[in-house]
Amino acid sequence: MSDAMEDEGIVVAMNARCAICCRTLDSDSDYPGRICDHCDKRAVNASGLEPSADSVSDSGDNPVYVDGWRCFRRHHLGGWVTMVDQCD
Ligand SMILES: [Zn+2]
Repeated sequence: MSDAMEDEGIVVAMNARCAICCRTLDSDSDYPGRICDHCDKRAVNASGLEPSADSVSDSGDNPVYVDGWRCFRRHHLGGWVTMVDQCD
């Protein structure tokens, strides 16, 4: 079965899914291992606390942990995307 759909000659990747819960992501994912907002809400830092996220300097805690998965956040534009560290 293919996850790709042809639309006027452009192949559009469909059904990008959360790397942890397999929930369909609400936007196209250019980030391998990206997780959904629901899983991201469970993220904690290395101390088991809510990870810091500084939208001014585009920085924050890394890595973060979701259900025991080590993940890295890429901060940008006042927000972030969270990706499972697939090399772990
Ligand atoms: Zn998820």
